[in-house]
Amino acid sequence: MTSTARSGIAGLPHALRDADALAEQTRSRRSAVFLDYDGTLTPIVDRPEDAIISERMRDVVQALACRFPVCVVSGRDRPVVQQLMGVDDLIVAGSHGFDIWAPNGGTIEREEGGDFAELLTELTTRLRDEVGSVEGALIEPKRSSVALHYRLVPEPRRPQIKAMVDGVLADHPERLRVTPGKMVYELQPKLEWDKGRAVLYLLEALELDREDVLPIYIGDDITDEDAFRALSGRGIGILVADPADPEVAGRSTAAQYLLSDVQEVEQFLDGLAR
Ligand SMILES: [Mg+2]
Repeated sequence: MTSTARSGIAGLPHALRDADALAEQTRSRRSAVFLDYDGTLTPIVDRPEDAIISERMRDVVQALACRFPVCVVSGRDRPVVQQLMGVDDLIVAGSHGFDIWAPNGGTIEREEGGDFAELLTELTTRLRDEVGSVEGALIEPKRSSVALHYRLVPEPRRPQIKAMVDGVLADHPERLRVTPGKMVYELQPKLEWDKGRAVLYLLEALELDREDVLPIYIGDDITDEDAFRALSGRGIGILVADPADPEVAGRSTAAQYLLSDVQEVEQFLDGLAR
């Protein structure tokens, strides 16, 4: 995995405008499409519960799911994603792939997540106690992680949030890790599991781990880089990022293509569905 080439965002070919090589690949193999949810199918919003998919995007994803296997891979809890998506016949992998549901196979839960329920409850209580006084901080307990959102926290108080997270990690160095996201700290049990492993697991579980299948993964966040790396050399990674956005400027990626925003994701998926 360490050998994967990474490049700066500015140099990436665009998945709609510089797409000849990409079109060639999608023509010669059958696509299997993996989609992140927040920031990919819906714009990033201040409150996670407001990230509702547009009707147009829902139609496009539904049309795509009639042609190819489509799987939504999210850090959110699986039932939450299913509810937000409002599409029944999709494969949904919640909790970074810990909790998978397929229309024909029902639920596939990864056992590794179960042992950590107590730790996560303890963590949620502690964060609520410590962060409760900080204006704008939002704690989102999930099945296999706790997210601490600070987009609404006034700038001068953000170092305090960071210090709290560091304090929690210092108390559980063997058991917890943090994945920084877009104005969010995602505290997770230290497990050998991420979106990359989830995608490889799904390819196998869905019997898509074949030469004639082209896995395409589209995502916008740091956690999606694991999936881009996992598919490097066998599939296509598309990063959703606006190179002009200071939040992503300077980031490097293992993806091979770029789409600038959710609207372009919709165009790309629409093209693929035709
Ligand atoms: Mg995302």
